[in-house]
Amino acid sequence: MEIPFIDLNAQYKRIAKDVLKNIDRVLSHGRFILGPEVNELEDRLAAYVGTSYCVSCSSGTDALLMSLMALDVHETDVVFTSPFTFMATAEVIALTGAIPVFVDIDPKTYNINPDGLKRAIQAVKNRDNSIYPIPEIILHKEFNLKGIIGVDLFGICAEYREINNIALENHLFVIEDGAQSFGGKYFGKMACSLAHIGCTSFFPAKPLGAYGDGGAIFTDSEELADIMRSIRVHGEGRDKYENIRLGINGRMDTIQAAVLLAKLDIFDEEINKRQEVAQKYSARLDSIPNIKLPNVPEHILSAWAQYCILVEERDELIEFLKGRKIPTNIYYKTPLHLQRAFSYLGYKEGDMGVSEQVSKEILALPMHPYLKDEILDYIVESIFEFYK
Ligand SMILES: *Cc1c(COP(=O)(O)O)cnc(C)c1O
Repeated sequence: MEIPFIDLNAQYKRIAKDVLKNIDRVLSHGRFILGPEVNELEDRLAAYVGTSYCVSCSSGTDALLMSLMALDVHETDVVFTSPFTFMATAEVIALTGAIPVFVDIDPKTYNINPDGLKRAIQAVKNRDNSIYPIPEIILHKEFNLKGIIGVDLFGICAEYREINNIALENHLFVIEDGAQSFGGKYFGKMACSLAHIGCTSFFPAKPLGAYGDGGAIFTDSEELADIMRSIRVHGEGRDKYENIRLGINGRMDTIQAAVLLAKLDIFDEEINKRQEVAQKYSARLDSIPNIKLPNVPEHILSAWAQYCILVEERDELIEFLKGRKIPTNIYYKTPLHLQRAFSYLGYKEGDMGVSEQVSKEILALPMHPYLKDEILDYIVESIFEFYK
């Protein structure tokens, strides 16, 4: 018996007919770039998320990058974000030339802590790292406070009511990195609709995954949507041979759009199945005192991109489960402020205590909508066996 961490094969068996039919249509009409399926997908995604506009693109990373470019982020700016996220979130800030300023996470949701955000803003404004740890260069040079990227980690939306209020007071934009929360909700509103711009990823392992790379940007601003469509095709003007700004090649393949159209039909059902799997895990694991379960606040519906527990004896548990052919993953072993790529910012160990502690104990268990009861029982019983 092979236990997959995410079972894309079970999903494919279910939707193969529709996927193949949709791909075949693309192969027949031959419009592989920005074909009709891309427009159809954008319309359906915008309706699903509840924003006026959706701009599909080549990946979640490019969704974030194109958003920052559209908001005119550059060398003299700082953008605040979480250090406990995938590299892409902070990487795109640095790629624009701006300075990423990290704000530590809340120990319950693993998302950016609004009180920390207030202090980090104060620290940057006063250029005073006794208020909050900030990059070295800010102490020596004046920067413009530009925006915040909130991250919806493991499927749980960040606290946008508070984040948006703080942003309003300080004239900052907010981007929602909803790469892991697509399909989730916050006070009844869909993930990716909770800030000025919402970004998501269709990397195969995300809640809504394509069969390759893909992403999407959501906004109610017609102006931003127009700029992002231009950036998506090298800053095109009236046509692609008139260039009115710098852009990138950020388009989604028509074939990926065709795949996503088939997957969108069953997506809500899959989100419901993820709730059931998560509830079963939590109900069973709750009786083990050494395990800290995921904590979803009342006002949030998680998309359950990952089911992560905290365990002090993580490495031993990983080995034990490996011996029983149960795959696990660690998201994320090293918080971004301690990654070598960001060493130029001058952060040191201890600056983001919660992220550092969580990164030592976090462990993701197999999670997908097709996880059968027998397999879940086997995983849970194996964990019980370990703690016996
Ligand atoms: C996956 C992910 C991204 C990047 O998406 P890609 O499609 O892989 O480029 C960005 N942010 C977060 C939080 C992610 O999980």
